[in-house]
Amino acid sequence: MPRIAVTYHESFSRRSYLTRGTRLSDFPEVLKDLVSEGRVEIVNVGAVPDEIIRLVHTDDHIYRVKQDPLCSTAWHSVGSVLTATELVVTGRFRRAFALIGAGGHHAGRNYFWGYCCFNDVVITIEYIRNRYGLKRFAIIDTDAHHGDGTRELVQNDPDVLHCCVCSMNYRSGDNSKIDISAFDVLASCRSFQERDEAYAEAIRSRFIPAVESFAPEVLFWYFGFDTHRGDYGDLGLTSEAYVKIAESVTVTAERLCDGKLVVVLGGGSRRDLASHVIPRVIRTIAELEPA
Ligand SMILES: [Zn+2]
Ligand SMILES: [Zn+2]
Repeated sequence: MPRIAVTYHESFSRRSYLTRGTRLSDFPEVLKDLVSEGRVEIVNVGAVPDEIIRLVHTDDHIYRVKQDPLCSTAWHSVGSVLTATELVVTGRFRRAFALIGAGGHHAGRNYFWGYCCFNDVVITIEYIRNRYGLKRFAIIDTDAHHGDGTRELVQNDPDVLHCCVCSMNYRSGDNSKIDISAFDVLASCRSFQERDEAYAEAIRSRFIPAVESFAPEVLFWYFGFDTHRGDYGDLGLTSEAYVKIAESVTVTAERLCDGKLVVVLGGGSRRDLASHVIPRVIRTIAELEPA
């Protein structure tokens, strides 16, 4: 059985809030080698009902998302993250990668912006808690931008560790909410190679120890490739940085949560980058042996 499920809906290839066109239009075809090698299974997902969206968002929020044509994939996007997590929690797959059409981390209880509609990860956490009784979750967010919606929703939840690379440095009193500034991390780098290494090292040395002391039951990696050289959150990174982070989070999940790793796609707009970077990350995660 493949170790990794890639959750997907065809609407993500036709319309995506995160692009002015279709960043995932080469999917799922670009994953065909991974599928034929037996490393990956593509799992088609459905839309989640409003009743599940209401675990986190207000009726007014849902109404406004319905009015926004760019949010047409939002229900399937939550379905993708929820299905990916459920497959991992129930042991059907060891790891999962959730493709999405509309983003999540800029969606708070009653607002959304920045290519996001519903908070896919926090809705999933609430659902998994209610349905399966798991309690503690960790999120490592390496999208270029601060995950303000996620932070608002988990701010007072000591059972969610939220580690975010953005433009500020912050640590809550209980160490469960951490931000590190990408600008500080990359300040002294002179080459692209140094940037990739410094960024990945910041995840290893500052986030992974926090995950270790927190001891989550599931690890989420919110992976935006908007940090890539030439994309809209350009930090001068390349796919080398993402491969190193993929290795760190996979090994960490093996050590701490019986392998339970869910990667959730975040920002990034370019089709050429999506078609190159996402299969590389999935391959890295798929090839690492279970502990
Ligand atoms: Zn972003
Ligand atoms: Zn942040």
